[in-house]
Amino acid sequence: MQEVEAPSLERHGCLRGVQPVDTGTSRFDIEVPGIELSLPATSIVGPTGGPRLLVTAGVHGGEYAPIEAARRLGEELDPGELRGSVTIVHLVSPASFFARRQYVNPQDGKNPNRYFPGDATGTATQRITRRIMVLAQDHDAWIDLHGGDIHEALVPFTLVSSAGQPETCRRALDLAQAFGLPRLVTTDVLGGSSYVAATQAGIPAILPEAGGLGQLDPEAALQLLDGLHRVLVSLGMLAGPPLEPKEIRHFHQFVWNRAESSGLWYPKKTAGQSTEAGEVLGTITDPYGDLLQEVKASESGEILFSVRSLAIELGDPLLAVAF
Ligand SMILES: [Zn+2]
Repeated sequence: MQEVEAPSLERHGCLRGVQPVDTGTSRFDIEVPGIELSLPATSIVGPTGGPRLLVTAGVHGGEYAPIEAARRLGEELDPGELRGSVTIVHLVSPASFFARRQYVNPQDGKNPNRYFPGDATGTATQRITRRIMVLAQDHDAWIDLHGGDIHEALVPFTLVSSAGQPETCRRALDLAQAFGLPRLVTTDVLGGSSYVAATQAGIPAILPEAGGLGQLDPEAALQLLDGLHRVLVSLGMLAGPPLEPKEIRHFHQFVWNRAESSGLWYPKKTAGQSTEAGEVLGTITDPYGDLLQEVKASESGEILFSVRSLAIELGDPLLAVAF
């Protein structure tokens, strides 16, 4: 692939400066003031103007299939075949990736996906999410790739928000349907999430999830890569035959069960299984085996992710049911 020089971030003083001026692929680091580790990124610019797509991965550093899908997109996408441009941020939270930390950025203990749209004068996580949000404002659509974290099993699904203007929400839904994962959840319950903050700001955004359990699941990575290609075709950024519609089950509620005490977690069901309202989904005991919490399904639906670690801490998610 042709390499072009990345414009200087310092010179422009803001992320508008990362848009390369020439056709080709450029690799660059996004610096965030006050943050030691820069964010590795790729920009791919086609020879003709068109939509600008942002792809992010590694908001949660232990979600490996999304990081692999983003890496492969940057490696494989031929700028000569592209209409418009694609910006990929490979690791939004490099500190959590290298520390193998679930949920949070070890620099400040915050979960980045609760701190969008961020704060340029805040802590490390808030500064990073602000930088990403400013970058997103220079794009026409945003795909924030996620998966199950190091201790979570997960079946593939895509989150979309209904919190924005109807036209933004409609375009986000179109992105999710083009991406084609088999489950689609419309939910705004996760305040501070990338896709919710973006949709509120008028940027069509989706959050697809695949893979989990701290492993690089090649099938999940391929599923995400395929979704990215489908979106590129649907936006007219890549040539291709009309997309075959995928069968997608649409959910409108997403209920998370959380630990009411720290202890040992014994799940009775896992991701992909259905639940009946009132059914016991697992128990938490103390280290001696005495029962601390019986976790019951409040609704009938499908479990989309399930924590598989024995250790559980007060307030941790245990599983989530969509219906
Ligand atoms: Zn995540």
